[in-house]
Amino acid sequence: MTEQISPHVTSLHVPLAWFPQPYPPNVFLVADGGEAAIIDSGFGDDESYNKRIEVLTAAGAPKLKYIIITHHHYDHSSGAHRLREATGAQIVLHADEVDLLLNPKAETGDFEIPEDQKEAREMAAKWRAEAAKATPDVRVRDGDVLRVGGLRLRCIHAPGHTDGHLCVYLEEDGVLFAGDNVLGVGTAAIAPPPHGDMALYIASLRMMQDVGAALLAPGHGPVVKDPVRKIQELIDHRQQREDQVVALIASGKDTAKSLVKAIYPELDKRLLLMATGQVLAHLHKLQAEGKVSLEGSGAETRIIAR
Ligand SMILES: [Zn+2]
Repeated sequence: MTEQISPHVTSLHVPLAWFPQPYPPNVFLVADGGEAAIIDSGFGDDESYNKRIEVLTAAGAPKLKYIIITHHHYDHSSGAHRLREATGAQIVLHADEVDLLLNPKAETGDFEIPEDQKEAREMAAKWRAEAAKATPDVRVRDGDVLRVGGLRLRCIHAPGHTDGHLCVYLEEDGVLFAGDNVLGVGTAAIAPPPHGDMALYIASLRMMQDVGAALLAPGHGPVVKDPVRKIQELIDHRQQREDQVVALIASGKDTAKSLVKAIYPELDKRLLLMATGQVLAHLHKLQAEGKVSLEGSGAETRIIAR
């Protein structure tokens, strides 16, 4: 299931039957001159792990220098520790993401799993604990450059989905690794503060447009060939949602719950927490801009128009 997406980048796709969403996390191999880096580790299950090792061996066993984790969410990070043990690679994380990764007990706003789904919650706790073993060897900041063979991987701090979310730009191939800021299909979940920040997310998307990439390699789903247009669609989608929220508040809706009901009338119950999170993320952005005040929390949050 590997696919070469540019001269130096291969997508290491592992279809995971048990993954609850249609697109499992993407893992990309960047290789040049006998050296390599992996962007995101994917899960640490046997199937995923064996596949990564197999691909590295088939690629002539380049020296794996770096495992770069775009953000702490366990679908991107829980395979890193095992891969480091096997290869001696250094795990790279943005400095602002370290505490989030190393503290698996904290609710981190990745997959909001309802209380009654016990098995799914236990599974998530297991992956979080595995992810927390990926103590970073290298902490990067915006603008840092990592070298792999003759290639330059530029680290771009692009927060919003998480605080220390990292995008990586491979200048030689014009490939921007987008993490969960862009999904090949659909839109990323942006949690309300403290886990996510809608205003920062939109600012990050605009900054990503300015990189001038030829190809976007997203955290999930297929690669994107027209980055500027795709990112503009995401910005427009968020703006339309915000306009809708503002109009509903003007029409008298005054709780997060009533907004969710109006915006997603046919919602599958399992997606309720996710949908509520999206609405709250927009409300917190409006509050930060002085357009509303909020009282209470979660679905019961009350909205006072200003
Ligand atoms: Zn994520």
